[in-house]
Amino acid sequence: MADVTRKDLVRALNATADLLDVLGSDEGGFRATAYRNAARSLDRHEASLEELQQTRFAGVPKVGKGIAAELLAYLDSGRFAPLDEAAEGVPEGVQGLFAVRGLGPKKVRALWDAGIDSVPALRDAAQSGILAAVKGFGAKGAQTLGQAAQFVLDAQDRFLLSQATLAAEAVAGALAQAGFGTEFSGDLGRSRDTLGGADLTVSGGEPAAWAQTLAALEGWAAGEQTAESLSGRWGGVPVRLERGEPAALFLPFDEPEHAGLTLPEPAALLQVADIQGMLHTHSVWSDGTATLREMVAGVQTLGHAYLGTGDHSQSAAYAGGLTPPRLREYIAEIRALQAEGLPILAGAEVDILPDGSLDYADDLLAELDYVVASVHSGFGLSAADQTARLVRAASHPLVNILGHPTGRLLLRREGYALDIDAVLDACAASGTAAEINANPWRLDLRWQDVLRWRGRVKFSINTDAHSVAGLRDLRYGVLMAQKAGLTSADVVNCLDMAAFRAWARPVSSGG
Ligand SMILES: [Zn+2]
Ligand SMILES: [Zn+2]
Repeated sequence: MADVTRKDLVRALNATADLLDVLGSDEGGFRATAYRNAARSLDRHEASLEELQQTRFAGVPKVGKGIAAELLAYLDSGRFAPLDEAAEGVPEGVQGLFAVRGLGPKKVRALWDAGIDSVPALRDAAQSGILAAVKGFGAKGAQTLGQAAQFVLDAQDRFLLSQATLAAEAVAGALAQAGFGTEFSGDLGRSRDTLGGADLTVSGGEPAAWAQTLAALEGWAAGEQTAESLSGRWGGVPVRLERGEPAALFLPFDEPEHAGLTLPEPAALLQVADIQGMLHTHSVWSDGTATLREMVAGVQTLGHAYLGTGDHSQSAAYAGGLTPPRLREYIAEIRALQAEGLPILAGAEVDILPDGSLDYADDLLAELDYVVASVHSGFGLSAADQTARLVRAASHPLVNILGHPTGRLLLRREGYALDIDAVLDACAASGTAAEINANPWRLDLRWQDVLRWRGRVKFSINTDAHSVAGLRDLRYGVLMAQKAGLTSADVVNCLDMAAFRAWARPVSSGG
């Protein structure tokens, strides 16, 4: 089987539906609808990919024989033929427009019809006023789309910290085997949240010898070589090796925001091993891929003490959010696992509704061991309304952690309009911890905000893992915490399970 995941299947089905809609060749849109329905159904189905392959997708609602055969071929070949076919009819530049936030198939078609056939063309059309004149867009829509297009253009040739780290580790590992020492440097040494590539300082040997070593490394594509340096790409990420001695500076404190501050000694900063509880994670109860039991085992394998769950609430229907009766069943399963002696706490990631109220009634929230409150909708509110919404949620006595507070997705979209200082002030006043979401797409809060508020607000570093593998993202959150000068005293995950429980529910924890 080619290296295809369930998410890949869902993505391929949706992308095919989008392109069919853009093409308009699908009379009545029946095929597109069929692919979309199959995608939604497959996304929610609980069987593993292996099981699905063995049973040829039998029993998955909305996946008929025809689509099942296409998916099986995809699993074998790594190509989804209907997508390739549809893509042939749509220029690459037009397909690229789907990367712009706010554009669905209908609008992409309208842009294409108006001769706006790429992201740069969209940006230019927004600036020149041409876009505002296209039917269905208007001045306000054109301005928003122009900004979104610019965001996509700025994100080109940028990489996530995780991508650069994995590339650097592959290269450093190969060089270490040949006896060359390496150290992260440049923007990677600074743990920047996005970067142009991975910089490494190499001690020992010559660029020619490094090049010889790396020639045997899978995924390595050689680039330029000078007397002092070697460049190339690993897995598409640019890697630059430069000759030098290990840096004496602690690079994470090497930003303008650090100037003049008194910061902890590097050795005193938070470490991955200090994290006892993995809080805010997802399981098959909502949109995760692993059972609660598997997630607990995953946490323990990584050397942490306990798992805090955080499945979605009812308003997050797209993510299989739990209705109140389902939440009670979920809590009952967690209580049963606790009775077995498993180190697990019952939490939920509860949606913050547009008015700042929460997605469950207070009596239901009180049945949980802790509550993460997050925004997953209503991104378009004004800064004043969004701030009031988050302040209200952060001030709720049963909310313990404010999840991914700014809503940004690196290289994909900016966060919503917000006065983050007002929100963190509310966290400080109510004792709510602010999340540093460790997912490399988020890294939200921004470390700059954490740095400004350290000592006044408690923080929680959460992977938001939707799979056992996702738990490994913790290190990126810890890097952000280090950049912000946090020690274990600042971070509620460093409490042991009993202490965390008592912190989250000070009144009821005695009973
Ligand atoms: Zn979330
Ligand atoms: Zn989450």
